[in-house]
Amino acid sequence: MLAPADPGNLPGMPRIFSGIQPSGELHIGNWLGAVQNWVNLQHSYDCIFCVVDLHAITSKYDHTTLAARTREMATGLLACGIDPARSLLFVQSHVPEHSELQWLLNTVTPIGELERMTQFKDKSQRFESVPAGLLNYPVLMTADILLYRADVVPVGEDQTQHLELAREVARRWNAEFADGEGFFPEPAPLLTEAKRIMGLDGQAKMSKSLNNTIGLLDSPEEIWQKLRPAKTDPARVTRKDPGNPEVCNIYHLHKYFSPPATIAEVAEKCRGAGWGCLDCKRVLADNMIRALAPIRERALALQEQPERVDEILADGAAAARRIASETVREVRDRMGFLPRPRGVAVPS
Ligand code: SF4
Repeated sequence: MLAPADPGNLPGMPRIFSGIQPSGELHIGNWLGAVQNWVNLQHSYDCIFCVVDLHAITSKYDHTTLAARTREMATGLLACGIDPARSLLFVQSHVPEHSELQWLLNTVTPIGELERMTQFKDKSQRFESVPAGLLNYPVLMTADILLYRADVVPVGEDQTQHLELAREVARRWNAEFADGEGFFPEPAPLLTEAKRIMGLDGQAKMSKSLNNTIGLLDSPEEIWQKLRPAKTDPARVTRKDPGNPEVCNIYHLHKYFSPPATIAEVAEKCRGAGWGCLDCKRVLADNMIRALAPIRERALALQEQPERVDEILADGAAAARRIASETVREVRDRMGFLPRPRGVAVPS
């Protein structure tokens, strides 16, 4: 751990912003797909990480569990190794400048661009009456990034379109209000290795809503009970039938949790019908349990002291707000608003 310095303000390091929705407990898909990467990025970037609860309400959601899921997600991130002495971690709605900047940026965002977003086209089909929040989701995402004038945003292939919109909005706003000077940097993508972790059903991406996940905090017994019935190569009807590991999700999970010698052994024993699928899953379960044990221990300790998590989030929000309020003050100024009276302005 670094000595507490000034997270969110590490001079000389490019700044990264990234957010995650408060879906509750993290699962191995989130961990392998994003959070492991965040933990590593802390060594080379000035990192700003956010639990994006304002994004979560643009789809149908359970308002009675939103607060608990938000705290749970923050707990999971801390347990995975997000270090508050090195990075900012906070909840999006605790920094109201996200919503304010979104409104201001709405005025330079072409509606046609929003309607062209692939995610909007997909998600809007699930609604009889499409909420405006769903359409404007990418503007909030743009505000999240520009508020901190982030240089880089880690994105998967499915988000490059949103980031391109953020760059376009930054260009338009700069042209209109900053004499093209580049007040807002155009955030560059940091393309991360696409780790598409399939769910235990072997049918779709691992997702809490599909109930095909293994939670990072699952107990050893829960992990085993979930792995036992997981889908494997259908060609392996009996123990004597040879299989093809390449079409089996269990084999792919071994690649993330088992050492190279075991991965080779799995492939060989699968092709040669040298063992049954349950044997194969047992080895995976043991390796997975071992890998996740330290995260689980840290999370259980943090769950015992929710006030500690709240304190970290409060500190994170206060530090984020110092940056965000300065950005919004300057944006308001350049857009010609009457300055806020004393006492209404956010104290810095
Ligand atoms: S032996 Fe392992 S890799 Fe092969 S089909 Fe069964 S679970 Fe999958």
